[in-house]
Amino acid sequence: MASILITGGAGFIGANLARRLIEAGHTVTVLDNLYTGRKSELEGLPLTLLERDVREPIPGEYDWIFNLACPASPPHYQREPLFTLTTSIDGLRNVLELAKRTGARVLHASTSEIYGDPLVHPQPEPYWGHVNTLGIRSCYDEGKRVAETMALEYRRTYGVDVRLVRIFNTYGPHMDPKDGRVVSNFILQALRNEPITLYGEGQQTRSFQFVEDLLNGFMTYMEAPKEKLEAFFREKGLDIPVFNMGNPGEFTVRELAEEVLKLLPESTSTMVFRPLPGDDPKRRKPDIAWAKACLGWEPRIPLREGLAKTIPYFRGTL
Ligand code: UDP
Repeated sequence: MASILITGGAGFIGANLARRLIEAGHTVTVLDNLYTGRKSELEGLPLTLLERDVREPIPGEYDWIFNLACPASPPHYQREPLFTLTTSIDGLRNVLELAKRTGARVLHASTSEIYGDPLVHPQPEPYWGHVNTLGIRSCYDEGKRVAETMALEYRRTYGVDVRLVRIFNTYGPHMDPKDGRVVSNFILQALRNEPITLYGEGQQTRSFQFVEDLLNGFMTYMEAPKEKLEAFFREKGLDIPVFNMGNPGEFTVRELAEEVLKLLPESTSTMVFRPLPGDDPKRRKPDIAWAKACLGWEPRIPLREGLAKTIPYFRGTL
């Protein structure tokens, strides 16, 4: 049994992770300023909630820290771009300072946005990406890129055991109905018989991972001995472990809408087209060969099955 801190633990992935860790018998503390996180998603769980901003120094001592604190949905992270940027950078610095002081192991949630609008497809970890520093996504993308560099340098300079995971589009129960991302929007629109809003022509692709698969990846990754990871990444010429975690099944946004409508045949929703937001990546699909080779991890839940497991949650929020 370990003592575990989840920053951003009242968010979508955090609320699922908290449940998983509690079921496994761990002692869980959640740190969240409730900017996008929701207390309601943690109701009844035996955990400690610290309502604090991750940009303030973090007290306490933990065996493991999952650093998930940062708004992650485009409409939310674009609302206060400087808040997003400083949450990524100052938040991770506080987590790493705590880990340096106490010897905690850290998993830092990085993102597929590291790759920007990628010119390499699918995206393997060694790809450097194609990111606009001056666009509407930059506050998120560049904050997350700096955070990766900070993790690298804390590891090199102080030996902090920090592990990076680049999370690709993930969905499942406990997503905020107001999240604004494509899976939650489409399911809710179909359930409410409202138009399904395809941005652009709906031809851009994403790879959608069910949250349970991601959590399996998190656990295998955190349980992996430091030496095993070091040996794997030394061979790759890297001083820090980094894995893509996502489902390689690639779908256009239009195909996603069709999948949702197949699962909700009673819906009278039709598809409508809306302007494509700036810098929207055209294609995205993870190369997960490294995580498979080193951790033996790969997603097991295909899109249709994951959507079927997610729909009842959103139905319950109506
Ligand atoms: N999208 C859409 N309709 C929506 C919300 C999003 O067509 O109601 C598109 C969006 O333009 C993007 C894709 O779906 O191409 C995924 O968007 P999301 O915000 O879920 O995540 P992203 O991967 O862009 O961060």
